[in-house]
Amino acid sequence: MFKKRRKVEQSLKATLERFDSLVKELAAIEEGTLRFKSRLLSVSEIAAQYYCEKKVELSHIRGEEETPEMREGKVAHELLLKDAVKAEREEILRRIFSGKPTLVREMPLLGKYNNVIIAGVADALLFYQGSPILLVEHKFTGKPIPFRDHHVQASLYCHLLDLMGWDVSQMKYALVIARPECRNDKKLIDIPRYIVRHLGEDPPRFKLEAGSANIYINNYDSRKTVADLDWALNFWIGKRPAVPTRKSGKCVVCSHNGVCEFSLSKRSIETRLAA
Ligand code: SF4
Repeated sequence: MFKKRRKVEQSLKATLERFDSLVKELAAIEEGTLRFKSRLLSVSEIAAQYYCEKKVELSHIRGEEETPEMREGKVAHELLLKDAVKAEREEILRRIFSGKPTLVREMPLLGKYNNVIIAGVADALLFYQGSPILLVEHKFTGKPIPFRDHHVQASLYCHLLDLMGWDVSQMKYALVIARPECRNDKKLIDIPRYIVRHLGEDPPRFKLEAGSANIYINNYDSRKTVADLDWALNFWIGKRPAVPTRKSGKCVVCSHNGVCEFSLSKRSIETRLAA
């Protein structure tokens, strides 16, 4: 009993110290050495490079207004937090290290890879016997299947956990895809427990008030994630220019399609040809 308690305290101390030292390091950086003088990169921004890297670049140069989707996304996250225990970091970590099953919503993650500090906030994380075993990431979109950037985002959260010293050898991630009108559905908060009940199989669609959610469970692949991250970082350290998407559908709805030289939207192409 005494031994176990001491182990919990040691793990807790090491995890908190690692996190705090990165926070301090970040605070001490006045000007970042990455593109746009960024001091750190967010997981969602790295994932966005896999949607269209040129768009990420143009959003930094031209700025991007908050879209209704972004505003709605925040509301959805608030809803997912509603029933969560707003415990202090230390209290949550103590519970995790005690080995009890613990579900943590909106857990801040911070890690350093190749001298670049990367931060993210995972929608929901389930810990079991002191280690993370499942990450749940919600996406609200009209398309019922996950895209590459969704996989990259969820895998990078797993990688951050790895960088933070957690054992991720059993880690799986679930992408939960529901239509935009399901964003405020109160039943969303039950999804992590539903997934746990169906681990090891393809979970049936989860019924919501305004539709249903498709759930895709994947094993975390560290080698692939590191390769994806290396590719993305080469843009931030200036090794290569931004890569535009090859999908015209993305350009049609892009707020930069009027100025982007790579735009594949029909109207932009016609304007360029006429010039
Ligand atoms: S117009 Fe197309 S290529 Fe250009 S930034 Fe937008 S999505 Fe990317």
